[in-house]
Amino acid sequence: MSRFLNPRFQGIAPYTPGEQPTGRKWVKLNTNESPYPPAPGVWPAVEKSLERIQLYPEISCESVHKPLSHFLGLPEDHLFIANGSDEVLAFCFWAFCPRGAAFADITYGFYRVFADMYEVDSLVLPLAEDYSLTPSDYHALGRTLFIANPNAPTGLALSRQEVETILRENRESLVVVDEAYIAFGGQTAVPLVKKYDNLLVTGTFSKSRSLAGARFGYAAGRPELIEDLGRMRYGFNPYNVNTMTMAAAIASLEDQAYYEDCTARIVKTRDKAQRALQEMGFSCTDSKANFLFVEHPEFSAKKLFECLRERGILVRWFEKPRIQNRLRITVGSEAEMQALLEAVERIVS
Ligand SMILES: *Cc1c(COP(=O)(O)O)cnc(C)c1O
Repeated sequence: MSRFLNPRFQGIAPYTPGEQPTGRKWVKLNTNESPYPPAPGVWPAVEKSLERIQLYPEISCESVHKPLSHFLGLPEDHLFIANGSDEVLAFCFWAFCPRGAAFADITYGFYRVFADMYEVDSLVLPLAEDYSLTPSDYHALGRTLFIANPNAPTGLALSRQEVETILRENRESLVVVDEAYIAFGGQTAVPLVKKYDNLLVTGTFSKSRSLAGARFGYAAGRPELIEDLGRMRYGFNPYNVNTMTMAAAIASLEDQAYYEDCTARIVKTRDKAQRALQEMGFSCTDSKANFLFVEHPEFSAKKLFECLRERGILVRWFEKPRIQNRLRITVGSEAEMQALLEAVERIVS
């Protein structure tokens, strides 16, 4: 640490992402990326976009607003585009939490970091023993709520009705619903955006559209909220989404069939892997995401994590209360999951 850092940032523990190793060929099931390449149209679109690389990116992001508006079924003025949904979430903590934030004890680790960075007082609400979220815990807290749906790393999802109850009981507070994993089985809250001016839904192309490296995220909300996000963007980095990323996002949106096929394959692989793990004695949450959250009654998660790592398979283990005996396993390709299952079988038998 240099002597120049503002003391206010010195004690903040940064977000710890899963490892991104190079060198050895890993079966990488630790960061919830897609095992499939992006839509085939993405390559030529990105290449073509390079013709404009000497210019700043399109500042209105209009060309991507159009197809995204079509995909989400919302008018263009209900959309905000960002450098990954992490950026939208950062803006939300920065802009919308004058009375503090509230989120679950077991959820996306970045919420805590953003709260610390932007000096947001946060109320941490424990999930139930089975990791389910009790909507009534979130009623009328007078704070900005952050709910990952489906939740990470548990994979559990709230129904649209449950989300709507939370919105109704918090008319005076903003509710941010983080839908990073919505493509894998949850019910999106996007249709509620027109009805509730206290709802902001965030989404990402990192997981379901195989564009984690491109950094493309969005928010859907009423135009007043979108305008506020624009204010934050213009005070931070007006060119937050680069030309190649916009081209990639547009090409991805143009190939709806490919997107549906990939997400359906991941769901199918997930459910099959889940059954196989259950047969080996694991308990699994009812995951509606592109990962499984599993526990074995006899083998410590740490030990399993280490044994898998030795065999070239990376999964995620969190050294945190309440979940330290669980592994989060990203759903990879059929072949990757086969390799995982064979390795697990050998370890536990
Ligand atoms: C991955 C993830 C994000 C961030 O996605 P990016 O668009 O890649 O920044 C946000 N929320 C949750 C719950 C995630 O798991």
